[in-house]
Amino acid sequence: MYPRAFAYHRAKSYPEAISLLSELGDEAKFLAGGQSLIPLMKLRLSAPRHLVDLNFIPGTSYSRSNGTARFGAMTRHAEIAASAEATRIPILRDCAAGIADPQVRHMGTIGGSIAEADPTGDWAPVLLATGATVKTLGPNGERGIDIADFTLDAYTTALQPAELVIEIEVPLPGERSGGAYIALKRCAPVYASASIAVQLAMHDDHTCQDARVYLGVLGLTATRVTAAEEALHGQEITPRRIQKVRQAVMDIAEPASDMRGSADYKRQAAGALAKLALETAVRRARGERVEMTHLYA
Ligand SMILES: Cc1cc2nc3c(=O)[nH]c(=O)nc-3n(C[C@H](O)[C@H](O)[C@H](O)COP(=O)(O)OP(=O)(O)OC[C@H]3O[C@@H](n4cnc5c(N)ncnc54)[C@H](O)[C@@H]3O)c2cc1C
Repeated sequence: MYPRAFAYHRAKSYPEAISLLSELGDEAKFLAGGQSLIPLMKLRLSAPRHLVDLNFIPGTSYSRSNGTARFGAMTRHAEIAASAEATRIPILRDCAAGIADPQVRHMGTIGGSIAEADPTGDWAPVLLATGATVKTLGPNGERGIDIADFTLDAYTTALQPAELVIEIEVPLPGERSGGAYIALKRCAPVYASASIAVQLAMHDDHTCQDARVYLGVLGLTATRVTAAEEALHGQEITPRRIQKVRQAVMDIAEPASDMRGSADYKRQAAGALAKLALETAVRRARGERVEMTHLYA
């Protein structure tokens, strides 16, 4: 189906994009990679009268680090996967390199993904596990919003009208840190059936100092698995400890049965992913180079 007719506006700067959106009001939307918005418009689930295109604004797509890793909002998933920052913080590469297929990865942006706040999106659990900050710019100036306060509900964020995501800032993990993100998918161009992000710091090769564990996809927003984090805090990583984490994840998961699998299948999958992600994160924290990709079943 064709989208409803709309007027197209090409912004040359963020301030221009913001004032255009302020002028045009609720009937206008920003356009980034178009990988969520355009399909919704074609299905007539979204019918904006104006699109303000962000793609021609210079200097909005970058990956750089100085003290923290910083990604411009218009940075494509594929660019993040190939960045030096994702080599330094492997959980970012796990996520970016596994999103959908090459076409979506080369168009879709990190800013568009978090602004969309799709509960099945891959970035939210990863950015929560890494403690990221979202930088925004709006009619009232710049803000830095903790990612934990950014996504309020499914498809709902803390963005004010005409406010833009401009940058995502991810703290560089310290020594003996490791993380992993694993999503289980039926095939590349579909969203995950279950996913998990684990980021931890080890005291030594065996004892976990601190951990963050977030379950993706199975709720309206990513779910923090506090019981799993507590089970790891200050503890030696043994098979029994890993089993505790797995159980904590399965206990908190509240999946619904749908075309991606039954509730029980997804709960079991989340537990299995938790074990694999934790083992991978620990190996990476020990300095091992471990390649991880999304799993297909
Ligand atoms: C076939 C297919 C499969 C997919 N599979 C996955 C998947 O497995 N995992 C996954 O995570 N994603 C998946 N996606 C979505 C993809 O990751 C998109 O990149 C993402 O959802 C939206 O990013 P975008 O840049 O395309 O944003 P757009 O579609 O352009 O915009 C999305 C929304 O965000 C707003 N917006 C965009 N940029 C900004 C900004 N900087 N500030 C404020 N608001 C903004 C827009 O107004 C719009 O409302 C898939 C998409 C397709 C088409």
